[in-house]
Amino acid sequence: MCNRCKWVNPSNPKYIKYHDSEWGVPLHSECELFELLILEGFQAGLSWECVLNKREDFRAAFDNFDVNKVASYDDKKLVSLLDDSRIIRNKRKIFASVKNAIVFKEIQIEFGTFDKYIWSFTDYKTVFEDYSTRTTSPLSDTISKDLKKRGMSFVGSTIIYSYLQAIGIIYAHGKECDLYKGN
Ligand SMILES: [Zn+2]
Repeated sequence: MCNRCKWVNPSNPKYIKYHDSEWGVPLHSECELFELLILEGFQAGLSWECVLNKREDFRAAFDNFDVNKVASYDDKKLVSLLDDSRIIRNKRKIFASVKNAIVFKEIQIEFGTFDKYIWSFTDYKTVFEDYSTRTTSPLSDTISKDLKKRGMSFVGSTIIYSYLQAIGIIYAHGKECDLYKGN
């Protein structure tokens, strides 16, 4: 690939790989949908690059984002996460990941899968919207509101918009990128 979205740091191979092979590719795996939701929440106020650089450490610290395990973390595990210098040690974000795991599981029970729930908002279709257009949308507002109502946190509209781009519900490669697909 010769041309990439402007936000990609060309000197970071992790970022290039993420952009080229993961970002915007329709995602349907429960484990990965959960991982990205949590990682997007940890990104709040920081850069995605910072999170991406720590991704393997996050996987190690969070039991490979096994939602059942995360949902059952006890105080001892939470203390060990707060002491874990490999990850982003933000108390509110770490506590939210457990609550969000519990709600994620409730959604799985209600809809069969989280995949079914999250894709139902666009009738299982991808929406095309260049990343440079906006940082929230009526779609991310709706999903954010619903997740908050269910008890999740760190799921504001900007975080959800970014999440929808990551998991391919919003296809957002820009005009300057070889992966651009306009309407
Ligand atoms: Zn791109």
